Amino acid sequence: MKKDPVLSKSKYMTGLQCPKLLWMSYHAKDQFPETDPQTQAIFDQGNDVTALARTLFPDGIEIEGVEDYEAILKKTQELLPKRKPLFEAAFSYKNTFARPDILSPNKDGSWDLHEVKSSTAAKDIHYHDLAFQKYCYEGAGLKIRRSHLILINNQYVKQGEIDPNELFSRQDVSGEVNSLVAGVEKNIGVMLKNLQQKTCPEIKIGPYCNDPYPCDLQDLCWSFLPDENIFILNRIRKEKAFELLAKKILGIADLPDNATLTPSQQIQRECHRTKERFINKAAIKGFLDQLELPIYFLDFETVNPAIPFYDQSRPYQNIPFQFSLHILSDWDKRLQHHGFLAIGRRDPRPELLKMLKDLLENQGSIVSYNMNFELTRLRECVETFPEYRGWFKKIEKRFLDLIVPFRKFDYYDPKQMGRTSIKNVFPALTGGSYKELDIAEGGIASLEFARITFQDGISTEEKARIRQALKTYCKLDTQAMIDVLNVLRRVVL
Ligand code: SF4
Repeated sequence: MKKDPVLSKSKYMTGLQCPKLLWMSYHAKDQFPETDPQTQAIFDQGNDVTALARTLFPDGIEIEGVEDYEAILKKTQELLPKRKPLFEAAFSYKNTFARPDILSPNKDGSWDLHEVKSSTAAKDIHYHDLAFQKYCYEGAGLKIRRSHLILINNQYVKQGEIDPNELFSRQDVSGEVNSLVAGVEKNIGVMLKNLQQKTCPEIKIGPYCNDPYPCDLQDLCWSFLPDENIFILNRIRKEKAFELLAKKILGIADLPDNATLTPSQQIQRECHRTKERFINKAAIKGFLDQLELPIYFLDFETVNPAIPFYDQSRPYQNIPFQFSLHILSDWDKRLQHHGFLAIGRRDPRPELLKMLKDLLENQGSIVSYNMNFELTRLRECVETFPEYRGWFKKIEKRFLDLIVPFRKFDYYDPKQMGRTSIKNVFPALTGGSYKELDIAEGGIASLEFARITFQDGISTEEKARIRQALKTYCKLDTQAMIDVLNVLRRVVL
């Protein structure tokens, strides 16, 4: 006789998100894409955070092993009488199996449950996670007294060695968890019934496809939508998009004339119907008239680890480790290029600030794309290095944001597919591309910088290869701005 499936914690969470996702995760594993490097890096970071949080329980015992369930269950039972904190103990009850990050003993014979999360705030999904665990452990015979979340304290400022007592904040969430435990058995019953079906449940796409996590099956489930679909309408609320879908309106061009749309959305509908660009020449001219030569095109790459790398920085603070700067001194003159890429593990900010101060001089526009990012990084840097405060106050006023004509829909090309980031605007306007690059995206740049800088055992050749890829990528970001600006200049001639 075929055994009933066993629900692990992650499967239970999957089942809460979507029955189809749960069914597919058991019966059609081959439909899931491989884990991409960014997701893997998030997992790795989570493991590092958990390992550090365990140092809060110095006499804890780790139960190793992932494959042999029977062996780890047996090992757990052997260790329980020692009344020590246990890491990755294992329990099963009915059709459930779970392993707590940390279980700590209390004098009255009960245990406290601690779940480590890389988040800075508690979320509903964390309470469900702990409720499932509590159901499993209590069913297996443990008495759980309190349930805690161990979260990242984003007010912590690193100074010297990381202090786990300061980096982490502990929250007692027993009330939230206990209120959910009673519903766990019912949820499990529904999930098991679903899993026993021979065919996949028919579930329409919905807000849960991205909540609480982006679902791995979106390429499959969302593939019926045309490329130019209503979900890429500028600033459309998800609920509104799903309402339109329910009325069988799938494509932007199909939106009826009397649909309630914002001015930008009306521009989009028109452009996707006619396949023509929309250009508000007067507004673009107004934008361009603000430019003052020499023009400095500036772009940062940043790294924002949960566990700070550098002194005087907080968890998840974006620390600029690289910039690209193109300088256009006159419209007919050749561009100059300067770049900075941090070397080694020392804090890159003092050197970066010094170089920028030398290069940006006293006049001329500083153009960034989505400039709040660059301005906020600089503002944070000068908070830490106040000797640059006066300089920053002067250059702050010189910034001009190249995203503005696109965000305002003064220029819209349907090839942008509703998006206004440089990664979409640059190819749509110029035919240029990031595709051939080894590093083609800011998230990967950040991961790769962290890898070659803070991981041991990376060869010199690999470091050199990645550093070159980082330079090429960042330089293209500022070159892309110049190319986009030139297109704007041509359309108003
Ligand atoms: S994409 Fe949406 S509908 Fe499809 S499995 Fe995922 S959550 Fe369910």
